[in-house]
Amino acid sequence: MEDIKQPAFRLLTISNSPVVPREDIEAAHFLRKPAQQVTSLQEAEPVIAGMKAWCELHAQGIAGLSAPQLGASYRIAFIWYQGLHVVMINPDVVYQKGSVLVYEGCLSLPGQRYQVRRPKIAKVQYLDENWQLHSLKGHDTTAMAIMHEMDHLDGVLIDLKGKD
Ligand SMILES: [Zn+2]
Repeated sequence: MEDIKQPAFRLLTISNSPVVPREDIEAAHFLRKPAQQVTSLQEAEPVIAGMKAWCELHAQGIAGLSAPQLGASYRIAFIWYQGLHVVMINPDVVYQKGSVLVYEGCLSLPGQRYQVRRPKIAKVQYLDENWQLHSLKGHDTTAMAIMHEMDHLDGVLIDLKGKD
């Protein structure tokens, strides 16, 4: 039996943000640039496998995770919803409503919390692991998680997002 090859993912973190220390330039480069669209399931599969393996090892039940946080610059995100991680490929926000100021943390900014503005409701359209189109409408913490991960895919972290 052949070994299943998985990329050796590690979480990219930026300490002492918002000023990025020199040793974290590499991490910042991945985290602060827009991720690329996924063009095929083949391209997505090893990234998703790596994200799942990382979650199992380090963070079961986290609100969300994006591929750029593991150094894979693809538009893939996990959103925790109803007790499981929904895998989203090339997600797009198609609807949002309301506005609320919230405090958020980020796995990539250890120990930091920032106040950011989020919608009360956010609806996202995405491809699943079978390349089928779906949508998910989230309220409150789910809407926050959706928008937080969408920001990651656009290279935006909460430290530089601001409140307005
Ligand atoms: Zn984050």
